[in-house]
Amino acid sequence: MTLTIGALRAEPGRKTRGTIPVDLGITTVEIPLVLVNGSRPGPRVVITGGVHGGEFVGVDAATRLGGILDPDDVGGQVVICPVANPPAVYDGRLGKSPLDDVNINRVFPGDREGGPTERLAAWLFENVIAGADAYADLHSGGIDETLLDFVGYRLTSDAELDARTRALAHSVGYERVLFGRNAEGGNSHAAAARLGIPAILVETGRLGERHPEQTRTLLDGLYRMLHHLGVVAEPQHTAPVAVPPRDWVWTGSVVSPATGLWYPDAVTGDEVSEGQTIGRVIDPADGSEHKVTSPATGRILYGMNGLTVAPGAELAAIAQPSD
Ligand SMILES: [Zn+2]
Repeated sequence: MTLTIGALRAEPGRKTRGTIPVDLGITTVEIPLVLVNGSRPGPRVVITGGVHGGEFVGVDAATRLGGILDPDDVGGQVVICPVANPPAVYDGRLGKSPLDDVNINRVFPGDREGGPTERLAAWLFENVIAGADAYADLHSGGIDETLLDFVGYRLTSDAELDARTRALAHSVGYERVLFGRNAEGGNSHAAAARLGIPAILVETGRLGERHPEQTRTLLDGLYRMLHHLGVVAEPQHTAPVAVPPRDWVWTGSVVSPATGLWYPDAVTGDEVSEGQTIGRVIDPADGSEHKVTSPATGRILYGMNGLTVAPGAELAAIAQPSD
């Protein structure tokens, strides 16, 4: 079957790389896409990177995967969008778009008549994500964010879908698999789950780093996932899974109560208990201090590395093994 997105087409056994212009109202962006149409039938797998700026590992791995995949070796179709949000990736290098200060991963499935980032989300969702039989969205700890690598997914009211999604999440081979208790909200993988698509979030790397070994880790995980889906043969070149995946559940998250300077006492990777002081936000003008306590017991899976924070800035996300 011909694989078509916008003006890009790939016949069976062919790979097409190009860009599609997307009108955001105030400007037009060029969305890069790699369409790999396999020589055998199989599922359509959609992979997005660069939904946020400053998260380079997913952009690198998606681009490399698009270059490496040979349609002769592929069963099904692989659609790769290495830079899903060009304004945030190229200009702001932050989670929010410099066009309108909107975090695109809070507004999926988007709005065709909305602001620029909502329009971009709607285009990506309708044209790229909604056609998937499986979907992986690649993220990292941003420039001021420490993070332990993990795979995330959302539970829905459909137990059969949840089982397939959990298996997809485990297939990546990362040590930590985090499930959210519902599929609400504007994350792309949550919106995809609401459509009945097995969808995962893969978080690799931290602090805006772009080490080749991080890209290697992610590429290995993507190959394991594609093999799990029957898209590629058993990969010969991937590193063995060091620690078997284990299910974790989010137990709490902490945001800054004030504008000021963040001095953490507990950092990413640390175990914390409910009520424990994990840091302070200091007002640089008068030295007054807001104590920040943990709302939950668990391990900090990602946290704020930056010094300067505004109210609502996420300081720490806490999770625990669920078994
Ligand atoms: Zn992100």
